[in-house]
Amino acid sequence: MSDYLVKSLAYDGQLRAYAVDATQTVRQAQEYHDTWSAASAALGRTLVATLLLSEASLKGEGKMTVKVNGDGPLGAIVVDGNANGTVKGYVQHSHIHLPLNDKHKIDVKGAVGTTGFLSVTKDLGLKEPFTGQVPLVSGELGEDFTYYLAKSEQIPSAVGLSVFVNDDNTIQTAGGFLIQVMPGATDEVLTKLEERLKDLPLVSEMMREGLTPEDILVKLFDEENVEILDKKPVAYECDCSKDRFAQAMASLPEANIEEMIKEDHGATALCHFCNREYHFSEDELREIVKNAKEK
Ligand SMILES: [Zn+2]
Repeated sequence: MSDYLVKSLAYDGQLRAYAVDATQTVRQAQEYHDTWSAASAALGRTLVATLLLSEASLKGEGKMTVKVNGDGPLGAIVVDGNANGTVKGYVQHSHIHLPLNDKHKIDVKGAVGTTGFLSVTKDLGLKEPFTGQVPLVSGELGEDFTYYLAKSEQIPSAVGLSVFVNDDNTIQTAGGFLIQVMPGATDEVLTKLEERLKDLPLVSEMMREGLTPEDILVKLFDEENVEILDKKPVAYECDCSKDRFAQAMASLPEANIEEMIKEDHGATALCHFCNREYHFSEDELREIVKNAKEK
């Protein structure tokens, strides 16, 4: 089944909650980048978080770039999201596999690192994009996104992100939830939520048992306290094209392009998000230089 995200209100709007099944999205990322277990889990969790954050904070043509830059072996993780529910991303070092941690889970913290930062740049169609940045507080990513929302956006939240990787590196399930506390939420509701979160199994485990995003919201709040507002498809999608790369090349110094023409007799551009390659012949490069001059 295709991936989708569900938006809901709980306790008469005291909480806003989102849940997503992103299994196909993370599978696509795993295939494009040939990620090994720890890289799949970390990139997957960041993809899930970006789907949730984009839905919670973007509208219309809005887009965002999430960067996780820790001191672990993965290097940087970069994910782009938008208001239409598509994401694309990559991790600097995709062949990372580590021994399981003391909870017998994939060691995401060990792969990401514990020192570094998480940044979110939002382009809301205004003049300047807005960037919020926080230091990493955990490296497991769920807590780091929770901290980002509290610190940078002043929204008390709970974030659950989870990817189940099979022994052969394929993805069995991936998903997550985001709960935002609205102003005026009562202590009673917050206490209930805390208790529920304490006992909640991992999202990927619940999904392995066949639970849908709707079921997970019901498990969090009980049927009578949750109101489903919307359900929308989400997916991994790369919108790169030869034209876009040509535009990017046009902004390079002319000497660089001349060098590609004279020394390399052409150029190949690689898309980090989907690994597609675009080849430019000498003639095409000359055309790029000519067009850049005319602008
Ligand atoms: Zn691409």
